[in-house]
Amino acid sequence: MMISDYKAVWAECLKVIKDALGPENKEAYEAWFTPIVPLKLEGSTLIVQVPSMFFYEYIEEHYIKLLRKVIRMQLGANAMLKYSIVMDQTIPTEPRSMTLSSQGGRQTVNPLSSMPVNINKEGAREIPNPFVIPGLRKIRVPSQLSANYTLDNFVEGECNRLARSAGYAVADKPGTTAFNPLLIHSGVGLGKTHLANAIGLKTKELHPEKTVLYVTSEQFMNQYGDACRVKNLNDFIHFYEMIDVLIVDDIQFWAGRSEKVQEAFFHIFNHLHQRNCQIIITSDKSPSDLQGLQPRLLSRLKWGLQAELQAPDVETRKAILHQKLQNDGIEVSDDVVEYIAYNINSNVRELEGALISLMAQSSLNHKQITMDLTRELINKYVQSSQREITIEYIQKVVCDHLDLPVESIQQTSRKREIVQARQLAMYFSKKITKSSLSVIGLQCGNKDHATVLHACKTIENLRQTDRNIRAMVEELEKKFAE
Ligand code: ADP
Ligand code: MG
Repeated sequence: MMISDYKAVWAECLKVIKDALGPENKEAYEAWFTPIVPLKLEGSTLIVQVPSMFFYEYIEEHYIKLLRKVIRMQLGANAMLKYSIVMDQTIPTEPRSMTLSSQGGRQTVNPLSSMPVNINKEGAREIPNPFVIPGLRKIRVPSQLSANYTLDNFVEGECNRLARSAGYAVADKPGTTAFNPLLIHSGVGLGKTHLANAIGLKTKELHPEKTVLYVTSEQFMNQYGDACRVKNLNDFIHFYEMIDVLIVDDIQFWAGRSEKVQEAFFHIFNHLHQRNCQIIITSDKSPSDLQGLQPRLLSRLKWGLQAELQAPDVETRKAILHQKLQNDGIEVSDDVVEYIAYNINSNVRELEGALISLMAQSSLNHKQITMDLTRELINKYVQSSQREITIEYIQKVVCDHLDLPVESIQQTSRKREIVQARQLAMYFSKKITKSSLSVIGLQCGNKDHATVLHACKTIENLRQTDRNIRAMVEELEKKFAE
């Protein structure tokens, strides 16, 4: 059979496809088949044009069997299908101006890596894309980054060192380090959004030509929904495929819902990764706890670096407070900062909240920020957010009481007073916190659990036999009960 009219061939194919899909799949038919444009016929190879990489991947994944059957019906057993993918002319890089071709009969898991690729710009056609200004080589996408969350004001501490330095590396060489994707995870209020935003800003500063975009996963989902409603999913996908550094915040939001959104993101992810574009993702769970995300997406998230932000230790908390105070041009005594830092230890957001309410109180009532005001306010604040006494805090209170620097607990000294301070800290940690003996030992001078147990017994004995010790223990008990 000699068929020369490629349009007629494709028209026949469409008819069969439409029939095969049936009226219940009319929408799918319209979404995935009517946008396909036949370009030419070379022997028994039909060349068609599809609007985007995502489109191509989607068809390969979902409709390849049907297409194969239909093409063979029209063009015989040797029939092949080649795709020409419309590349946006605003994108200057080579990989975008390629034509990917695939045998109609082949089902490839990863078509990108195993397909012949040849450069061929013909067939690229303008598609209406509201996100792109035609004729400009480089699109301008507002990055949606906040100017306030910078790397400079992201205080460094043991708790965030890995994530922070990975962030620097990524901003320096986006897309080309091993940290792609960079996944930042932590509990709430520990700085994920701040850090991800800061990396975006730094990237823009170092590489002004790169298109950086920050979105929350909720925004992404809403945009996807809108795009589906007005039937321009391709523009949506196209838009995201043009980004050089994509930051998606709070990806756990998709867990257990929005399969379609995850699917779209999966394709975008693959595309960007393939082009060495940087992907930065945050999550309030570690990937192993992220149930409800599609396994293949999860596995992608594990490709790069997973960096966890931990709760800041007391020194970092102090540094954060000092920085915020300095920013606002407010001076308070070190005691005040210490008091807040020791008492608020849940997360950085709470820490800021406490400081803000203290500043508000002082300015509303024209009061100085004194220790008394601080104590009163912070205690209220802490009560309302369920205060948890930590080992760190216990060490601080014990050492203050004995007039020792808090660091002495960590020293190997055998001086009587230091040994006693350490034993007291262990004793109260056992009584008040839920920590195990070995955790307490680790935090109190790197001792083992037997030492902690011994300390607890010693203090208990002294309490029975030594009046001074009993008085001291009781006074400390009062302080912890405050
Ligand atoms: P998350 O996204 O993890 O819930 P955020 O990034 O919103 O947390 O951080 C909460 C608040 O704490 C923000 O105001 C942020 O600026 C501040 N913050 C967190 N970590 C730091 C840090 N290391 N240095 C300075 N500020 C921080
Ligand atoms: Mg956040």
